[in-house]
Amino acid sequence: MYDIRNYIAGEFPEAISGMHISNVEPATGVAYSTLPDSDERDVAAAVQAALAAFPAWSSQTPSDRSQLLFRIADLLDERIEELAAAESKDTGKPLSLARTVDIPRAASNLRFFAAAVMHFGSESHDMQGAAINYTVRQPVGIVGCISPWNLPLYLFTWKIAPALAAGNCVIGKPSEVTPMTAHLLAGICKEAGLPPGVLNIVHGLGSKVGQAICEHPDVPALTFTGSTETGRQISRIASPLFKKLSLEMGGKNPNIVFADCNYEEMLQTSIRSSFSNQGQICLCGSRILVQKPIYDKFRKDFVQRTQALKVGDPLSEQVHIGSLVSHAHMEKVLACIERARDEGGAILCGGHRVKIAGRCRNGCFVAPTVIDGLPPDCRTNQEEIFGPVVTLIPFNDSEEATKIANGTAYGLSATIWTENLSRAHRVAGELQAGIVWVNCWMLRDLRTPFGGMKDSGLGREGGHEALNFVTEPKNVCVRYRDAG
Ligand code: NAD
Repeated sequence: MYDIRNYIAGEFPEAISGMHISNVEPATGVAYSTLPDSDERDVAAAVQAALAAFPAWSSQTPSDRSQLLFRIADLLDERIEELAAAESKDTGKPLSLARTVDIPRAASNLRFFAAAVMHFGSESHDMQGAAINYTVRQPVGIVGCISPWNLPLYLFTWKIAPALAAGNCVIGKPSEVTPMTAHLLAGICKEAGLPPGVLNIVHGLGSKVGQAICEHPDVPALTFTGSTETGRQISRIASPLFKKLSLEMGGKNPNIVFADCNYEEMLQTSIRSSFSNQGQICLCGSRILVQKPIYDKFRKDFVQRTQALKVGDPLSEQVHIGSLVSHAHMEKVLACIERARDEGGAILCGGHRVKIAGRCRNGCFVAPTVIDGLPPDCRTNQEEIFGPVVTLIPFNDSEEATKIANGTAYGLSATIWTENLSRAHRVAGELQAGIVWVNCWMLRDLRTPFGGMKDSGLGREGGHEALNFVTEPKNVCVRYRDAG
C-alpha cells in the first residue's frame, strides 16, 4: 500500500487524526494506496505554514518565481512516464491519454504562467497635469485551490500556477478520488527548491478539508473546479465572508451540426468530443444537435464509429475508452442510462457495463452510449451525466438549434459545425456559453478566458483573467505638487 501524505511546510506529515482513506484503482477495483483523512486542524497547520512563507515569497522578483515554476515544469517533463502511469492508474483513463494530454498540459500550465507573470504590467492613468494614477496588483495572500478528479494534475496545476506565479501561497485540495499525482507533484516541488510553505497540499474529503479551506478566515480567495452543487455550497460559505471566488462547474454542452458542415472532420471530432476521457471532461459535447437533412445519415455513421471504439485495460495502447473513475460514478452513469430508457429514449448502442477479462475483471467500464428519441426538456437532456453517454436531437434551422442549445441551466461550452461563415458568427453570438468552438473542439489557447455562464461558472480562468483573480488591484493617486 502506497502511503500518500499531506505536504505542509515542506514536510510530508500524516493527518493529525491519524486516519486514512483507501484509494482504489478503478480499472481493477483494487485498493492500492491510502491518503490522509485530514480535517480542519491540518488545514489550520497548512494556513500557518503559508502565512509564514508569504512575506519572503511575495517579495521575490517575478523573474525568480518564474524560474522556479519553469524548473518544476522541466521536472514534470523528465518524469512524464512515471506521472502518466500514476494518473492512468488513479483515474482509469487510457495511459496514452495521460501521456499525451494530462501531463504535458500540466507542464504547459506551469510554463504558461511562469512566462505570463513576466509580462503582467500595471496600468497608469494621467489626469492631464493634475495627478498621475498608477495601479499595482498585489498578491491576495493565500489562495485555496480545490480541484476535481477528471483531469487531476492538469486542473490542479491550472489553479496553483497563476497563484504561485503572482506571489501567493497556496492551500491545494486535490480530489480524494484521485490524489496521487498531486502528491508526486509535492515531491517534485520540494526537489525543485520551492520554499517550504509556499505550496501546501491537504488531502481528504471535501466535506472536511474543502469546507475548512473555504471557511478559514486567512484564505481570502478560492478557486474551485467541480460540480455545480458543490460550487453552490462553497458560494454559500464564502460569499458572506466576502472572499474572492472563481467557480468552474458542470455543463451540458451542445455540439451543433449543420447539414453543410465538413462531414468527415465533424464526425471524427464529434467522436472525440463525446467520448474522450470516457466522456468525463467538462467540455465534452453531451447533446449532439443535428440538422434534419443529415440526421439519419449522421445517426448511422456516428453509431458505427462509436461501436468501433475499443473499451478495455487503460494500459493497452489499442484502447480508446478506459475505466470510469470509480464504482460509485459508474453506478451513477448507469442509473442515468436507465432513466433515459424510462423517459422513452432509444439506446442506439452501448447502455451497459462492460466486463473485461483478466486484471480488469472488476473494473468500472461502461460501453460508449448513444441515445435518441428524447425531447430537449427531459432530465436526460437537462442534467449532467459526465460519462460516455450522448444524446442526439434533430433540429430544423439555426433558430431552433440555438433555442435547444440555450435551453438548459448550464452555459459552459458549445461547438458549431458549418461551412457558412455568417451563420457560424451569428450562432456563436447567440449561444449562452463561455466558450464556443467553430469547426473544432478543445483547441485551447491558454491566453483566452476560460469558464462558463449560468450554472456552469462564476468568473474566468486563463491568461490575465487568472492573474487578475489572484491579485488585488490598488490604485495610487499622486497629485502633481505644482498643479495647485
Ligand atoms: P465535486 O464537486 O464532487 O468535487 C470537486 C472538489 O471539491 C473535490 O476536491 C472535492 O473533495 C471538493 N469538495 C466536495 N465537497 C466540498 C465542500 N463542501 N466544500 C469544499 N470542497 C468540496 O466534483 P467532482 O465529482 O470531483 O468532479 C466532476 C465535476 O466537475 C463535474 O460536474 C464536471 O462538470 C466538473 N468539472 C468542471 C470543469 C470546468 O472547468 N467547468 C472542469 C472539470 C470538471
